[in-house]
Amino acid sequence: MSVQGRVAIVTGGARGIGKATCERLARDGADIAVFDVDGEAAEDTATLIAGLGVRVMSVTCDVTNVAAVNAAVKEVVETLGSVDILINNAGIDISRLFEHTDEQFWRRILDVCYVGTLAVTHAVLPHMIARGSGVIVNMGSDAGRVGNPGDVVYSGAKAAVMASSKALAREVARHGIRVNCVSPGPVETELWANLFDEGKGEAITEAIRKTIPMRRLGSPEEVADVVAFFCSDDSRYLTGQILSVDGGMTMVD
Ligand code: NDP
Repeated sequence: MSVQGRVAIVTGGARGIGKATCERLARDGADIAVFDVDGEAAEDTATLIAGLGVRVMSVTCDVTNVAAVNAAVKEVVETLGSVDILINNAGIDISRLFEHTDEQFWRRILDVCYVGTLAVTHAVLPHMIARGSGVIVNMGSDAGRVGNPGDVVYSGAKAAVMASSKALAREVARHGIRVNCVSPGPVETELWANLFDEGKGEAITEAIRKTIPMRRLGSPEEVADVVAFFCSDDSRYLTGQILSVDGGMTMVD
C-alpha cells in the first residue's frame, strides 16, 4: 500500500469519521498520531489500532489552541520522525436557526471547523515543504456546498474550509503537496446523533433519508475509505478537489 510507513495526523481522531480514518490508514500501514480534545478517548483509539502493528501515538489537542497545536505537531515529528499526511477532520455542529444564534455561537463553530483547520495545517506545512512531499485531506461537508437550514454558520465554515483547500492546493503543488477535500452528507456518528433538539432527530433523519438516492445515511468507514484514496498514490494527479460522499444526495458539479 502506498501509505505504508508514512506518518499521518488525524484530528478529531477519537470518534466517528476520525476514528474510522485512523483505523483505515493504520490497516494500510501508516503510522498514526491521534489528535483529539478528548485525550482519554484518543488514547482508546490509539490502543485499538496499536494492535495493527503500526506506530501509534495519541495527543490531547484542542485544534482551536494554536500554541497547543504547534506543540502537538512538534511532539509528533520528534516521536514519529515526520508528518507525511494530515487529515483535518475535527469539527462540531449544532443545528440552530440563525435567528436564535449569537456571536459566541458563530465564533465557536468557526473556531473549531475553520480556524482549527488553518492552525494544524500551518503547523504541519513547513515539515512537508522541507521534505518536498505531503498529503492534506480536509473534511468539508455538503452543508458547505448547498447550505443546510439550521447550519448557517457551519455551512459557511465548511465552505471556507473547501475554498481555502483549493487556494492552498495552488500554493503548494510546486512543493509536491496535494490538498483535497472530502464532503460528507449525513453520516451516522455522535455528531449526527446529537445534532438536533431532543425528540426531533428521528423524524428529521427519516425525512433526510428520503432525499438520498441510496435511501440511507453513510457510515464513518465509507467516508474513511475515500479519505484513504486521497492519501494514496492512486490519487497522485488530484489536487484542489472536493468529493461528496453522500449516497448521491447533492450531485454538485
Ligand atoms: P464526531 O463528533 O463523532 O467526532 C468528532 C471528534 O472531533 C470528536 O472526538 C470530538 O471530540 C473531536 N473534536 C471536537 N472539537 C475538537 C477540537 N476543538 N479539537 C480537537 N478535536 C475536537 O463527528 P463526526 O465524526 O461526525 O465528524 C467528523 C468531521 O466530519 C467533522 O468535521 C464534521 O463536521 C464532518 N462532517 C460530519 C457529518 C456527519 O453527518 N456526521 C457530515 C458532514 C461533515 P468531543 O466529542 O470530545 O467533542
